[in-house]
Amino acid sequence: MPEANNPLEKFRISLVTSAFSKREDGNMSLSYGDTKHSLENRQKFLSSIGIDYKNIVGSKQIHGKEVRYIKDDYRGKGALNYDSSIPDTDGLMTDRKGLPLIILTADCLSVFIYDPKKPAVALLHAGWRGTLKNIACEGVKALQEKFGSSPQRLFVGFGPSIRSCCFEVEKDFKTDFPFGLVVRDGRTYMDIALTNKQQLINCGVQEKNIFDPEICTFSQNQDYFSFRKEGDKSGRMISVIMLKP
Ligand SMILES: [Zn+2]
Repeated sequence: MPEANNPLEKFRISLVTSAFSKREDGNMSLSYGDTKHSLENRQKFLSSIGIDYKNIVGSKQIHGKEVRYIKDDYRGKGALNYDSSIPDTDGLMTDRKGLPLIILTADCLSVFIYDPKKPAVALLHAGWRGTLKNIACEGVKALQEKFGSSPQRLFVGFGPSIRSCCFEVEKDFKTDFPFGLVVRDGRTYMDIALTNKQQLINCGVQEKNIFDPEICTFSQNQDYFSFRKEGDKSGRMISVIMLKP
């Protein structure tokens, strides 16, 4: 049985299931990499954490900042084929119990958010483009607007992503990202997770309520898919969050 990595584990939240897969769990994408066994991989990984793979809701991720409210009638969208995925969406949120939301990544950051008061959950896809659009803050604002969530009470966990050890960017990133950049030997590197962390703090989330597992997909490529390391062949990890039924 695969080990489920639970980014919200630290907060001892018993009402939520959250996890991200690893390389050993196989490719989870229905559109990228070798998709031959993707449905089987999803079924195996998700059933190990009590989720029926036919119920998940996924989107066509476009590195935007749209955060969409997911209702019960969206159940299964993107579960069995890519075409049925919710279009042009990089953030999903719901207050529905037993409705699992997913994001697929290989280097990009998945951001898991839980509001214990409503309760409600959100899951965001944040690559550098989504981070530039501040999707983290968009997610917090969407929860505030839809459910009256207080940012101070939110719990946030991160999935694995490419980090400043490995992600070299152009120097002009400095004007776009006032934090999360590291300069080494005259080269500029970005840490997507650190940038998102600061963006979340800036929109009211408490630092102590943010958990970063500090995993670099590129350096730890034996355990995680990395698009920058593997190119078009790269598979995708699945991130999933669900309010327990
Ligand atoms: Zn690295």
